[in-house]
Amino acid sequence: MYVVATPIGNLQDLSPRAAQTLGSVARIAAEDTRHSGRLLAHLGLNVPMLSLHDHNEAQRVEQLDRYLAAGEDIALISDAGTPLISDPGFVLVRALRQRGRHIVPVPGPSALITALSAAGLPTDRFTFAGFLPAKPAVRKQALEQWQGHEATLVFYESPHRIVPTLAALSEVMGQREVVLARELTKTFETFLSGTPAELLIQLEEDPNQARGEFVVMVHGAPPRTEQSQHAFSEETLLKTLLAEGVGVKQSAAVAARVFGGRKQSWYARLQAIKSDD
Ligand code: SAM
Repeated sequence: MYVVATPIGNLQDLSPRAAQTLGSVARIAAEDTRHSGRLLAHLGLNVPMLSLHDHNEAQRVEQLDRYLAAGEDIALISDAGTPLISDPGFVLVRALRQRGRHIVPVPGPSALITALSAAGLPTDRFTFAGFLPAKPAVRKQALEQWQGHEATLVFYESPHRIVPTLAALSEVMGQREVVLARELTKTFETFLSGTPAELLIQLEEDPNQARGEFVVMVHGAPPRTEQSQHAFSEETLLKTLLAEGVGVKQSAAVAARVFGGRKQSWYARLQAIKSDD
């Protein structure tokens, strides 16, 4: 089975090998057959398709395995970009590998790599977080977990959540540099950078900038060594907060904001300091 990357906007980005593979297989498993039908029509191909999405992926394993056992070659594609990257396919690929089937990647576009390659943020280490949780409180918690993370953080976001997500980033990541990559490889491709608060103003001033598809990239936290050169140590800050009468819960929130990490672990450490006194 070939896992074939398809364009994320610009059809010219389909590689010759991807086109040749799609034209040579007996069947194509596609996330949305109607959507992919347009790509196949553009390529002048008429290959039988079957749908493979989150809701039928497990059931499709047996069927696709039978086709492979019968000697057919199959291609897996998603609506855009590389299958399995925030797209269906993981269950299938894993199951087929466990059955000893030959899985061949045919690489090509992916929004996360495309965005990182031109954003101007550090790329030596990055963490891809997929889509953040939809519920505002859970989304904020997820961002809090990445607060002290030193690698560039990359995630996908939809146009109707970009503004609340920037607001949450502003609360949690404060002055951190954020780059928004919008409509990559398409006519209105844009890269915007600034603090989350600055980006919110730009989106407010030009609502067109809030339209389309987004990759959000956040500069990592300063390295621990730099953090420890701060004028105060973690211990000093915690003790000062308690001495000034700030409650344990609030102190934990301040410490998480300043040094990163989970509020719960700061809470436990503050409790320990308090009981030592
Ligand atoms: N498999 C795809 C890949 O390899 O990039 C990602 C699929 S995921 C369901 C779709 C999300 O990817 C969108 O919501 C958006 O965040 C991001 N995305 C896809 N195409 C994009 C583009 N042209 N510009 C910016 N972001 C894009």
